[in-house]
Amino acid sequence: TPVIGVLALQGDVREHTIALAEADALARPVRRPEELAEVDGLVIPGGESTTMSKLAVAFGLLGPLRERVAAGMPAYGSCAGMIMLADKILDGREDQETIGGIDMIVRRNAFGRQNESFESPIDFTGIEGGPLQGVFIRAPWVESVGASAEVLARLTAGPAQGHIVAVRQGGLLATSFHPELTGDHRVHRLFVDMVRAA
Ligand code: GLN
Repeated sequence: TPVIGVLALQGDVREHTIALAEADALARPVRRPEELAEVDGLVIPGGESTTMSKLAVAFGLLGPLRERVAAGMPAYGSCAGMIMLADKILDGREDQETIGGIDMIVRRNAFGRQNESFESPIDFTGIEGGPLQGVFIRAPWVESVGASAEVLARLTAGPAQGHIVAVRQGGLLATSFHPELTGDHRVHRLFVDMVRAA
């Protein structure tokens, strides 16, 4: 059984922990470098990426996170977690750091005020059984991806139609939306399989 950490600096740690357990992984909170060293993969939760970035620096975790991701540790980020896995962000705070790893440009708070929260069905490449329910909360979108990143989902309706909302690059996975809030654990199962395969 893979041991999967949940970065527990800030955000919806509890929901991811439950989803991982239901997807047959052993979930553990990660706040310290020693805890990071002991996990096979890592989930970076939704929350507030500027706060997460600050706390990662304050806890001495940013360097170790970058090193483990660069060394091939699988990681999955939802929403703020997607921002943390982006090589480049738009509309970030000036001092905002990311872990990086996915060759993509992510725009924070991309859907604007009016649409801060909405739900939309998502056709997700590689996930069987019909569309997922995408929950978007002050979500980012992916402005563009590099050649090594694979687009797994785009919005297919609404004013933001066509925008990229799920990306994979090797062992790294990112979604604009929050599957951990829906009770549908297919994205977490996909990630647990990626950790098993790594
Ligand atoms: N707007 C948040 C950020 O920029 C992300 C929101 C979320 O994770 N639900 O970090």
